[in-house]
Amino acid sequence: MTRKILIIEDTPTIARVQQHIAMKVGYDADVASSLAQAKELISNNSYFCAVVDFILPDAPNGEAVPCTIEADIPTIVMTGNIDSTTRETVEKFPIIDYITKENKQAYHYLEKQLQRLPRNENVKVLVVDDSPSTRRHICNLLKRHKYQVLQANNGIEALAMLEEVPDIAVIITDNEMPKMNGDELCSKIRSLYNNDEKAVIGISSSDAPHLSARFLKSGANDYLRKPFNNEEFYCRLSQNVDMLEQINIIRLQANTDYLTKLPNRRYFFEEATKSLKCLKKQKTPSSLAMIDIDHFKAINDTYGHDAGDEVLKGLSICFAKHFEQHLVARLGGEEFAIYFADTSKDKALKQLNTFRSFIELHSPEFSKEKIKFTISVGFAQGPVYQIDELLKQADLKLYEAKETGRNKVVS
Ligand code: GH3
Ligand code: MG
Ligand code: MG
Ligand code: MG
Repeated sequence: MTRKILIIEDTPTIARVQQHIAMKVGYDADVASSLAQAKELISNNSYFCAVVDFILPDAPNGEAVPCTIEADIPTIVMTGNIDSTTRETVEKFPIIDYITKENKQAYHYLEKQLQRLPRNENVKVLVVDDSPSTRRHICNLLKRHKYQVLQANNGIEALAMLEEVPDIAVIITDNEMPKMNGDELCSKIRSLYNNDEKAVIGISSSDAPHLSARFLKSGANDYLRKPFNNEEFYCRLSQNVDMLEQINIIRLQANTDYLTKLPNRRYFFEEATKSLKCLKKQKTPSSLAMIDIDHFKAINDTYGHDAGDEVLKGLSICFAKHFEQHLVARLGGEEFAIYFADTSKDKALKQLNTFRSFIELHSPEFSKEKIKFTISVGFAQGPVYQIDELLKQADLKLYEAKETGRNKVVS
């Protein structure tokens, strides 16, 4: 779904820059050069957000701002310069942000804000405060920036909610609460989740001098004194969400094979090792298969390395689809592995054979050159709980498959 943005701006060059930024970020952009035109567009469209010029020919005193706000459109205000009267007028409205056009960073900043809004729709923030009015206030601020909001009355409730909703990214917690203080809650959270998994922002109205340090030492990422300025609140929050996002990107890159986008060897080893520990406790046998393309070197030699890459990519897409419920990876080169979680030997072998014959039949579809190829599979199952040992056993079976004619599954 493409999100629509309304740009209200009377200077054509600025409107064009804004439109360009919005489209680059993925929005459909409508431009109005006056308040009258904006009103007409608003009555006929539904907008995800708006960028509003503070001074327009038919709205010289910021009159366009209440117009988009009343239409429930999250609004970013652009002003020429920000004197104190303008700032006061702008701050009266529940806007997303205001940006001064004179600032060199203005358009870069606008781009970031426009990127963040759709992203925020997937970010869960838990607000922990015993005061319903403060909680409501913070929740409203969060909803304005399109975050998903959850609430808890105290630390105990917060911990239960974190268990229930594992993908909560940020916890904003008051300090003075019955049952458990904010910094105590923070320590508990840190004993369960790392800094790179969840961000904690502490809030307090106390002016005790060491409270901010205590929060930070308990593992909080940030701290705010009540009453806080909304702008500061948003800045600190989005910096923390950006940080979590960056870490996630790095983590994903570290765990993904660059060519095929499948999980890589390192991720496979980590995840399989975790699962094997559980299997060992339950005394359940483990099972794993290794897959290797037959005569792949000849494909490279005949059609070139790029065609070989196409084959690897095509095979990987099929592979991931066929074994969706299991842990799959590219171990390296033209070697792949599947760790079967909770599957009987018969079922795993049946799936592997289906996949083998699917590849035999459909492999020409993976490349422009219609390259036909086959795969060999080695399968191991038993009370083996070391991943390298399990791989070694599957590799022996794979070797047997290669030695006895290829294009087969050996267990
Ligand atoms: P076998 O049936 O015995 O497995 O023979 P094979 O030719 O498939 O096996 P061999 O191990 O001799 O050759 C594997 C080839 O895979 C050699 C290597 O250049 C090629 N290869 C490894 N990684 C890549 C890659 O990322 N892209 C391409 N195009 N080729 C790769
Ligand atoms: Mg309180
Ligand atoms: Mg091979
Ligand atoms: Mg090989």
